[in-house]
Amino acid sequence: MDNKDITRRDFIQRVTLFGAAGIGAGSLLAACGGGEQPAATPSAETPTAAPEAPMAEESFTCMDTTGLTEQELAARTTLNYVDKSTMEGKQCDNCALWVAAAEGAQCGTCQTIKGPIHPLGYCDIWAAQTA
Ligand code: SF4
Repeated sequence: MDNKDITRRDFIQRVTLFGAAGIGAGSLLAACGGGEQPAATPSAETPTAAPEAPMAEESFTCMDTTGLTEQELAARTTLNYVDKSTMEGKQCDNCALWVAAAEGAQCGTCQTIKGPIHPLGYCDIWAAQTA
């Protein structure tokens, strides 16, 4: 055995050892999660579009009288219901006969006039709330 063979053998052993160590280290890293980071995936915490803000009271109407009878329509007209009050300090949402809109709805109702009622509306029988 000459020095050249020993050196070659030694070289091969070292390469083999380093190679095995490299593979072992890679496997070990992968097994304990030290490898590549997983691609980002959407989660429940991913921000989504903000919910829509409620519509301003001035920007919707409550004039859809679909389904009302002739008599109910006549009462609405006779009492001069309007979606926008022109009476200072008097509007449906501060009237004693006002029934607030259900959650998620914009138009309320009235204990006397049938159909959708605008919170800023008004009619001739407006009455101040008590208490
Ligand atoms: S009575 Fe007239 S003012 Fe009062 S809530 Fe009904 S519609 Fe509006």
